[in-house]
Amino acid sequence: MTDARRRIPRTDVLLSEPRLAKAVEDLGRELVKNTVTTAQNRARAGEIPPEAVVDEAVASLPPAASSLREVLNATGVVVHTNLGRAPLSAAALKAVRIAGGSTDVEFDLTDGRRARRGRGALDALAQALPETGGSDGVHVVNNNAAALLLCALVLAPGKEIVISRGELVEIGDSFRIPDLVTSAGARLREVGTTNRTRLTDYTDVLGPDTGFVLKVHPSNFRVTGFTSQVPIAQLARLDVPVVADIGSGLLRPHPLLPDEPDAASALAAGADVVTASGDKLLGGPQAGLLFGAHPVIHRLRRHPAARALRVDKLTLAALEATVRGPEPPVRRFLEADVDVLRARAERLAATLVRRGVDAAAVSSTAAVGGGGAPGVELPSAAVSLSEDYALRLRMGEPVVVARVERGRCLLDLRTVEPEADERLVEAVSRCMS
Ligand SMILES: *Cc1c(COP(=O)(O)O)cnc(C)c1O
Repeated sequence: MTDARRRIPRTDVLLSEPRLAKAVEDLGRELVKNTVTTAQNRARAGEIPPEAVVDEAVASLPPAASSLREVLNATGVVVHTNLGRAPLSAAALKAVRIAGGSTDVEFDLTDGRRARRGRGALDALAQALPETGGSDGVHVVNNNAAALLLCALVLAPGKEIVISRGELVEIGDSFRIPDLVTSAGARLREVGTTNRTRLTDYTDVLGPDTGFVLKVHPSNFRVTGFTSQVPIAQLARLDVPVVADIGSGLLRPHPLLPDEPDAASALAAGADVVTASGDKLLGGPQAGLLFGAHPVIHRLRRHPAARALRVDKLTLAALEATVRGPEPPVRRFLEADVDVLRARAERLAATLVRRGVDAAAVSSTAAVGGGGAPGVELPSAAVSLSEDYALRLRMGEPVVVARVERGRCLLDLRTVEPEADERLVEAVSRCMS
């Protein structure tokens, strides 16, 4: 053994060093020990001097006991599925933190007895959507896919679900809504064509075998040209239940997204059940929202499978805080004024240029994302860097995911909190070659 290798501190000595001992408390022994071993191996390989092992280990400690990293989303895609969809508001994060301990999610503090699980979230949704007639008209499950599954289990066992061929949607990662609902034991009855479906296409097939008519919003694609679909209001006049999957979770119409369906309008048009995601345009946690008349929601809630689809206390906490609390990031990103974004891009680019980075403020086009509003272009502003920054920013600290477009690395500011601008500058500065 060389002299230098002999000077590499032993593992037990390292683990009792104050900073690493504290890390053992925060992260657990296994993670810290792995980090220490890696640093020792680097010293053995001669990559760092033995005296640097402690600092190297401290610098390489993971930020948390989970491997999930915080990411600054500079893609300009507001609801980015691969980055966890909607980022939660500070209010929702705080609610999650509180609910993370023991909490009265299913307990009445006044009489010390069991209470309705998640009533706070249900009440918040019912108040935001008075069309439901109170919290008996609201149910929450794991995600929108679970909401549709529950509808199929309750309303169409052994029966037909009637759906337009223009609405046979693949959600993503090769999961398809038709396969999802038939997995619950219902049969699919496709009507119409890809581009056009008429009311008579539906009425021709309705009968005793019909479970319900399913109306699915094509949330991630658009069919344009010679097209027509039957609106909910017309379907609601037929004598069968209508389930409307609106997708993105807008509770009311949004002026910037005129083609995006919303729960209030779908209920007003006569849908018996409306389903939506909690983590798209609503801006909350992953959840499936079900709205409808009290008897049908009651049946959904009491089906045995409802227990398998129920949400945990963290989701309920975040959902309630999203609905009751301040506007979540998704809404602020969507509504951000392009002039303000441009001013930020110019300021950030100027700061980076002063630091020797080849950066420029440019106009850009942001998007809502897989979460809804296909084809809607959101005017935006970005900091443009050379393309090689994209990889370095992903490997950097904080992690930044940018958009690569026409050979440039764009940091689109529509999806970055203004408070994160300085961290963005630091992240880029650290990547300078
Ligand atoms: C996103 C989406 C779904 C799936 O929702 P999840 O919450 O991801 O399960 C289903 N239907 C439509 C129309 C959607 O847009």
